[in-house]
Order: sequence, then structure tokens, then C-alpha cells
Amino acid sequence: MKIAVLKEIAANESRVGATPETVKKLIGLGASVAVESGAGFGARISDADYAAAGASVASRAEVIAGAQMVLGIQAPQLADLPGIAAGTIVAAIMSPFNDRGKIEAYAGAGLVAYAMEFMPRTTRAQSMDVLSSQSNLAGYKAVIDAGEAYGRAFPMMMTAAGTISAARVFIMGVGVAGLQAIATARRLGAVVSATDVRSATKEQIESLGAKAIFVDKVKGIEGEGAGGYATEMSDEYKAAQAELVSSHIAKQDIVITTALIPGRPAPRLITDAQLASMRPGSVVVDLAVDSGGNVEGAVAGQVVEVHGVKIIGHSNPASRIAPDASALFSRNFFNMISAFWNKEAKAAEWPADDDIVKGIKLTEGGRIVHERLLG
Ligand code: NAD
Repeated sequence: MKIAVLKEIAANESRVGATPETVKKLIGLGASVAVESGAGFGARISDADYAAAGASVASRAEVIAGAQMVLGIQAPQLADLPGIAAGTIVAAIMSPFNDRGKIEAYAGAGLVAYAMEFMPRTTRAQSMDVLSSQSNLAGYKAVIDAGEAYGRAFPMMMTAAGTISAARVFIMGVGVAGLQAIATARRLGAVVSATDVRSATKEQIESLGAKAIFVDKVKGIEGEGAGGYATEMSDEYKAAQAELVSSHIAKQDIVITTALIPGRPAPRLITDAQLASMRPGSVVVDLAVDSGGNVEGAVAGQVVEVHGVKIIGHSNPASRIAPDASALFSRNFFNMISAFWNKEAKAAEWPADDDIVKGIKLTEGGRIVHERLLG
């Protein structure tokens, strides 16, 4: 089985879907791997590194020719897959709700599209879950970015010349990214607090040594929520949350927001009035900016200043730590391929009734087949 690895062409995308480590492992399974020249540059991997790992390095058309599977980070348009044969699997982030036309074109060309962001949230699929692996790094990077923009120390320092007080960091949304943001800010010595709508996160926040700030007047989401996901909250809850966090936000040096609701725009968590209540020089990082944003005034791909507060709205934050993000994304791919590998056939086999295959497969046989994209 030939596996092709593409060089990303999307804006702000420095990651790559295979590293020399996973190339070696794929070859160890019995696959052959062809990497597009320059694919690893953004992740600090040279063509020579891939060649040394056993991959062939060639042009885009050459790596696609004869491949049964094509790996990418963000799925390209069909026109950017020259010569791709019907029946080829393309595995990448597909974003079908933002670009349905691309998925229809894939179906029309007879491609099999695997949307990595649709990976089921099951124990078996955990090691293949790109949303988790990338969110974790985004949460880490958000704290590092905030620290740089803040320009002051995180820990309390008691020196002979006097004391420097600790930075106060508030995390809103405690999923994978939020938990890593709490852990990172704590490691740096900040005084950390956090909030979420799912009650299960309270214990997680406290176990990381942060203070849980929770609405208790109105009921939130019990436990983990369905599939670990939040839903849109009632107006009554939103009002109680706004009241609770308003006075808290005013005392923070750094706020990091990560709140997402699947299939809906990100919830608005910080208003312009709340920004105005913060001290000038404070920093807000909106990790949800690509999904509509949690913070009023945040701009995707930009750092803006409002009322003296810096609002960081980097698009695609995981790509800002591309070597590590690529290492984990590539392992997610390897874990998926190896789980379906048939040693004798030296190829992956994808049973149609498998819950992972059903979960990620968007197109096959000339049609869109995923239930979330039908009717
Ligand atoms: P997410 O990216 O969908 O959302 C981020 C966080 O924002 C969530 O914790 C959500 O509850 C919170 N949020 C939404 N609306 C909010 C609001 N109005 N105010 C405050 N917070 C709000 O979440 P995620 O990072 O994908 O993780 C969610 C859960 O799923 C976690 O418990 C995680 O451990 C679990 N998970 C499990 C698996 C698996 O089992 N394979 C994989 C990934 C995640």
C-alpha cells in the first residue's frame, strides 16, 4: 500500500501529516511512503530527513500517483490533488460544514474522504483523535503567547529588592485545551482560576490546583455532558454566568477562552464592557476565534488592543507549535492506519460497519455517505 504525504497549502498551516518517526513505522508495517518535497519545512523536517527514514520524496503529482491513501492536515481542494484516482482515501481535517463544495467535489471524483475531526470520542479511538492532540498543544501555546504579550512575570517572586506578585490567570472552558492551559499557567507559577458549564470539570480544575468558579444559581450541564460536549445554555444561565464572571474578570491579568459548542458558533463569554473593566496591560487569548470567537472584538489572525487590553486571536493556534503538533497529528494517523492494518495484505482494510470508519467516512462510491451531511 502506497501512502502519500502532502505539503500543506492552506494559509497559516505549518504542520505535516507524517514525521520521520511515523514514516519508519509505516514502512515497518509494510507500506511504502511518498512525501511531497518541502512537506516538512514548516515543522522543521527536511526532505533529507524523510529520505533517511525510507520515504521517497517527490513532486505532488508523483506522490499522489498510485497512492491508495493520501494524508494531509487540511484537506485541499480537488483541483489541488492532480491525477488522484477514484477510490483513493484522503484523510485530513475536512471542515465539511465550512466547505461543502469541496466534499461534493471529492464525492464526484469517487474519492473516499476521512474527516479526522469526526473521530468518535471512544477509548479505542482516543489515540487517533486529532482534536484532542491539537487542542492540548493549543492550550499550552495560548499561555506562552499570553505570557509574552503580558511582558511581566508569572510567579510570585520574593527577592531582596522586594516582592513581585503572581499573575492572575482565568481559563474559560475546561476541555482538553483549557485543562492544558490551567496546567501550564500553574507550572509557570500563576494564580489560576477556571470555569465551565459542565459540572464534571469542577473536580478536574481543583485537582490541577486551580480555583473553580461556577454558576450555582442556575443548573449547568450535569457531569461530562453528552459525548463530553457542551450545548447552548439558556438565557437565564448566560445572565448568571455573566454576573458571576464580571467581577472576577476585572481582577485578572490574563484570560484564556476556549469554549466551543459542536455545530454552532462559539458562545460569547466576554463583552466589551468586561474588557473595559480589566486593567490596561491585561491580555485575553481567544482560542475559539476561528469558530466565531468567545470575546467581543477578537479578530481571527490578529492581535488587537481594546481599552488597553491585548486580545490575541491567532488562527490555527496548534500550527504555531508545528513540530510538536505534527508529531502528535502524525501519530494519530499512524495509530489509525495500524489499527486497520492487515499484515498479510500489507494494506489497511476499513470495514464499513466499524464505528471509527463509520464515524469519519464522508464520501464513497461517488456519494456523500455521512449521516451528519445527509438531509
Ligand atoms: P470543546 O473543545 O468542545 O469545548 C471546550 C470547553 O468549553 C468544553 O469543556 C465545554 O464544556 C466548554 N464550554 C462550552 N460552552 C461554554 C460556556 N458557555 N461557558 C463555559 N464553558 C463552555 O471540548 P473538548 O476539549 O473537545 O473536550 C470536552 C470533553 O470531552 C472533555 O471532558 C474531554 O476530556 C472529553 N474528550 C474525550 C475524548 C475521548 O474519550 N476520546 C476525546 C476528546 C475529548
